[in-house]
Amino acid sequence: MSIYLDYNSSAPIDSRVLDFMIDVYRNTIGNADSRTHDFGNHAREITEAARGRVAELLGIQKNEVFFTSGATESNNIALSGLRDYGLSTGKKHIVTSSIEHKAVLETAKHLALDGFEVDFIDPDSSGRVAAEKILSAVRDDTLLVSLMHVNNETGIIQPVLEVGEALAKCGVLFHIDATQSFGKLVEELRTAKYDMLSMSAHKISGPQGVGALVLRRRSYKLPPVKPIMYGGQQEHGLRPGTTPVALVAGLGKACEIAFSEYTEVNAHCRMIKERILSLIESSGVDCQIIGDQEHCVSSTLNVCFPGVSAEALMLSSKQYCGISNGSACNSNAYTPSYVLSAMGLSESEIECCVRISWGFKSDIDEVAESISNLLDVVKALAF
Ligand code: PMP
Repeated sequence: MSIYLDYNSSAPIDSRVLDFMIDVYRNTIGNADSRTHDFGNHAREITEAARGRVAELLGIQKNEVFFTSGATESNNIALSGLRDYGLSTGKKHIVTSSIEHKAVLETAKHLALDGFEVDFIDPDSSGRVAAEKILSAVRDDTLLVSLMHVNNETGIIQPVLEVGEALAKCGVLFHIDATQSFGKLVEELRTAKYDMLSMSAHKISGPQGVGALVLRRRSYKLPPVKPIMYGGQQEHGLRPGTTPVALVAGLGKACEIAFSEYTEVNAHCRMIKERILSLIESSGVDCQIIGDQEHCVSSTLNVCFPGVSAEALMLSSKQYCGISNGSACNSNAYTPSYVLSAMGLSESEIECCVRISWGFKSDIDEVAESISNLLDVVKALAF
């Protein structure tokens, strides 16, 4: 049996979320924005309850949550939506990190074509981008700082608390890509200071294809973000298009579950991580754990097995587990991870790195068995 260990790319849907969604699909007719009949009112009640669940998990107001198709879209709106404001105020400088998800990196690069200047700050070998490095890049004409909370390839937690605290004092907009921390680092996100936040439901065992962009109100005013698509007035015109009621309901249910269970899930994930690390250590295989584990989430491990190609390892261990190398694969052409490269790893080291990620549904003994088998494959390939 092959065990799924690629939760960072997408977590399996929680059966309670699925049941709830099926019920909504069965019993809800209509468009949540129809105001002429009770069918529409009922659909709207469901989407508004879901909005409340997202807000509750983050400790914010309901009217600060805007549904999108997921974090890629949220990141695009957060950055590109500021284009007009930046151009009209002359604030055309953006600070971000070089290890962001492509949805931020490519959007920032696109803004550079419109005359924006973007600083991409590198992490150090620990995988963390120093808060001081980010803050010292901020200038008088800085419009926005965009920083991910947890890196999807390494699991390393970035200093969003320090950065948010400092930026709140100087009036520079701050966007957090919280896709990998939402519903997991709950307390941190409830205390973090930010203007915008992106997330996707499928990373917290909700459905794929739905997420949210959070826009915080400062003195009742939202950040000056404009829509990047035009159409109806759904989501206050910020994200036009018919609201997918059942998907949004699933996101809300996943938030409700995450809020009540995140402490247990995090503890469960930590136990799994300790077990994996002890299996690796006792196996005697040559390896390097990537990134400073003091600042790593409990559900991700990026590990390099020197001399063992990740491609060969993933292929040869497919019957035991589904892991990834966390690298961008475009049109089947292998490109070494820009995240690991920014951390100073050589191309040959990167070729030997795999990402293992797990979550609430992972059974500790099943994971242990699959990792033991994986380590046997590592030993066989190392010769
Ligand atoms: N940001 C981060 C940090 C991610 O890990 C991901 C998904 N891998 C995204 C953004 C994009 O999310 P989605 O594919 O759901 O739009």
